Amino acid sequence: MSDLRDLYQEVILDHGRSPRNFGVLENATCEAHGDNPLCGDKVHVTLILEDGVVRDVRFEGSGCAVSMASASLMTEAVKGKTEAEARALFEDFHDLMTSGGEVDLDELERLDKLAVFEGVRGFPMRVKCATLGWHTLNAALDNDAQPVTTE
Ligand code: ZN
Repeated sequence: MSDLRDLYQEVILDHGRSPRNFGVLENATCEAHGDNPLCGDKVHVTLILEDGVVRDVRFEGSGCAVSMASASLMTEAVKGKTEAEARALFEDFHDLMTSGGEVDLDELERLDKLAVFEGVRGFPMRVKCATLGWHTLNAALDNDAQPVTTE
């Protein structure tokens, strides 16, 4: 697993330093705010859902490198996907982060780059950081006006 761990460090540092799709979409059709009070991470996700496809997605926020990197990777992963695909990815990612058992190889393959977050599975605090962006995405797809919190 050491290769995956090195890759994890690399990906977190890279995306933490220069987050992709950072900002706010002015013409967003869906948005949500997420808050992880345990760590102080905050995320605001805006997206354009058109004909059931995530045409564009952005996030802004502040917090630790793990939360920012995960939100950044989330935007890359769901852009261009259908709403159903984006939700399925959320389920897979959530599963990976919260299940204690062996990780299904098919699941890892579907998750692609997101699989590097397997490295934080043993750290419940970090899991909240890593899933914040995804919970916020899910709330945005629901167009839920209530801010999501990891608590
Ligand atoms: Zn955090």
